[in-house]
Amino acid sequence: MQAGEQVLKGEDADVAQEVATILRQDGIKILVKTKAESVSRKGTRYASRFARENVPSIQWFAPARCRGRTPNTDTLDVTAAGLAIDDRGFIKTDSKLATNVPGVYAMGDIKGVPLYAHFLRRFPHHPRQPTRKRDASIAGRFVPYTVFIDPQLGRVGLTESQAREQKRRIRVAKMPMSYVARALETDESRGFMKAIVDADSKQILGAAVLGVDGGEIMSQIQIAMMGKLPYTVLQDASFPIQPC
Ligand SMILES: Cc1cc2nc3c(=O)[nH]c(=O)nc-3n(C[C@H](O)[C@H](O)[C@H](O)COP(=O)(O)OP(=O)(O)OC[C@H]3O[C@@H](n4cnc5c(N)ncnc54)[C@H](O)[C@@H]3O)c2cc1C
Repeated sequence: MQAGEQVLKGEDADVAQEVATILRQDGIKILVKTKAESVSRKGTRYASRFARENVPSIQWFAPARCRGRTPNTDTLDVTAAGLAIDDRGFIKTDSKLATNVPGVYAMGDIKGVPLYAHFLRRFPHHPRQPTRKRDASIAGRFVPYTVFIDPQLGRVGLTESQAREQKRRIRVAKMPMSYVARALETDESRGFMKAIVDADSKQILGAAVLGVDGGEIMSQIQIAMMGKLPYTVLQDASFPIQPC
């Protein structure tokens, strides 16, 4: 159930719709523009009432409410140590993860977005960071992520909507996974790949790969973006396929 217009708020509407279609095909009931008004318990079951016409009450065994994550800086009382927090309670840092208190750094979710495990270990002051480059910075890094549904959604860089909001001159390429040999070979041809490129520089600005191994394919596109390769280099490249 989602109060907003679509699942995966923040993704392009076509990507979110395709994800919803796939999940529905797999038997998952999805309600958008629907708000739970109340949850009541009857024995081992829970029932929800919805704020949407023609939506009947639904019975659940285990309701889970997912409303984002909140840092526990209040119970830790970090301000007693003089640490500055933002209006959501995350510890404020600069691009080197330094807090406002000299010699104190904040890593992981406690320093605010991006809230991903893969954004934890590569930070300059992490004890397991092999190089411990004290001058390393998180500024300007891509924030790739994978939504681990089946098939996966891999995402990096700008969405089409973000690129249009920035008034960039863009070109958008979209290809269904049913055109992809490996998807056909593995009998999972749902989804599509979408790339947003700068019309002038030809550099890749962002990509969404909803399909088999979507997270891995996205990572390859991320490396091309890190190297500032124009999309034409990938367009002309050969990648191995397994002949059917
Ligand atoms: C449902 C869910 C799915 C996720 N899926 C992904 C994913 O697929 N990929 C991905 O990259 N990220 C994912 N994440 C995010 C990822 O889990 C976090 O980014 C990562 O765990 C952050 O690491 P952390 O060490 O900062 O915090 P945590 O992993 O939250 O570790 C903080 C630790 O501190 C302990 N602690 C808290 N307060 C105190 C205290 N007062 N004293 C002592 N110990 C304390 C906690 O018990 C906890 O063990 C997911 C998160 C959630 C909730």
